[in-house]
Amino acid sequence: MNKKIAIVGGGIGGLIVAYRLSSEGNKVTVYEKEKQLGGLIDDFKIEGQYLEKFYHHIFKTDTDIIKLINDLGLDNKLKWYKSSVSLFYDNKFYPFNGSIDLLKFKGLDLISKLRLGVVYLWLKFDKKWQKYQKITAIEWMKKRAGAKAYKVIWEPLIKGKFHHYSDKISMAWLWARIHTRGGSRNEKGEEVLGYLDGGFGQITRELVKKISDFGGEIVLNKEINDKEMLNFENKYDFIIDTRPINEIKYLGAITVVFSSKQNLSDYYWHNINDLKSPFIAFIQHTNLVDKSKYRNKHIYYLGAYVPQDHKYFKSDDKKIQQEFFDYLVKIKPEFNKTEISEIKVFRSLFAQHIVNVEYQVPKYIINKKILRLNFAQIYPQDRGVNFAVKEANKIISNI
Ligand SMILES: Cc1cc2nc3c(=O)[nH]c(=O)nc-3n(C[C@H](O)[C@H](O)[C@H](O)COP(=O)(O)OP(=O)(O)OC[C@H]3O[C@@H](n4cnc5c(N)ncnc54)[C@H](O)[C@@H]3O)c2cc1C
Repeated sequence: MNKKIAIVGGGIGGLIVAYRLSSEGNKVTVYEKEKQLGGLIDDFKIEGQYLEKFYHHIFKTDTDIIKLINDLGLDNKLKWYKSSVSLFYDNKFYPFNGSIDLLKFKGLDLISKLRLGVVYLWLKFDKKWQKYQKITAIEWMKKRAGAKAYKVIWEPLIKGKFHHYSDKISMAWLWARIHTRGGSRNEKGEEVLGYLDGGFGQITRELVKKISDFGGEIVLNKEINDKEMLNFENKYDFIIDTRPINEIKYLGAITVVFSSKQNLSDYYWHNINDLKSPFIAFIQHTNLVDKSKYRNKHIYYLGAYVPQDHKYFKSDDKKIQQEFFDYLVKIKPEFNKTEISEIKVFRSLFAQHIVNVEYQVPKYIINKKILRLNFAQIYPQDRGVNFAVKEANKIISNI
């Protein structure tokens, strides 16, 4: 091969491409604007252990990332844990792990529950996602699951995540969320989720090792703009551009991550079905992974997706913490801030592409030198590390 290749962006997608292309004998340079690599799987240390800034797990069906984990020699660290999901509605947490929990749920009448059950099954088995592209998730759900089930279950999730974009979100996006979930089960039929002992940041570190073993170069703190891209066209045979795409609208994400002696819940994942909440997900990470890995402290994430012009991108960390904790204490009155030992706030401006009814997958080939790799090309499935591997493999086939 022996081509000179620049990779702009050192998230998992860019690093996989860099690893594969350098292993084939190309001279690869990765340019990353931040002072560390990893993008959305970037990590930090809490209670002496690496942890993702944004909560992560994988599914048994994520076979491409599992294969990469094996290739990188991290397979002994991949552990599967029983998941547990809860829904906060009308001042109460309800278990929400399957059909029995749905039947017991107090927030809906029997007819609505049955309709909702049929809708889940329908979307799970229907493979023809194309027919959902041009219809909004709100319209489809209201019609099929009924107004009550929409109001109680789906409205808080769709509006809580997409804010003023929610009216146009395509049903294809929601189809994919429901359709792809479900295959990750153990022999007892319970949902299991995968987590890398020591965190997914190890994928980044292992990729970096491989890239340098193959003679690749990594340049940190280097933001590449369009002018620089023109220079790159003279300097390199190929450029893989993983930067956010101008024509695409993205949501940002915020997490408040903390460790505490307090055990606040029996569940791992909590959907907060209340539009007054500043966060949509409350995650007790140590109900998936044992707390012994974190000096016996519990690890929590409070997570929100917000528009890029949201005040959280300008407010200081303390204000965000306060706002999130004021709500947390309403839903978990036993929560005591003074028990927290470590706390951090993380922000990402480009966290989720907005898939509306007019969505067009951004093109891969920009010109004969520039190829594009961005999670916004993943459609209708939601972005994820598994798809980052798939997309990276697609790009390589063009070189
Ligand atoms: C809250 C949250 C939770 C998630 N949970 C999961 C999960 O549980 N499971 C899962 O599989 N996936 C999850 N994901 C998705 C997953 O993290 C992403 O799909 C994946 O990490 C995207 O990788 P990427 O390389 O495509 O993009 P990114 O990680 O965005 O990487 C792009 C890189 O390019 C750099 N860059 C941007 N502009 C420039 C520039 N001008 N010059 C140089 N560098 C630049 C950025 O700094 C970044 O490092 C989650 C995402 C979020 C936000």
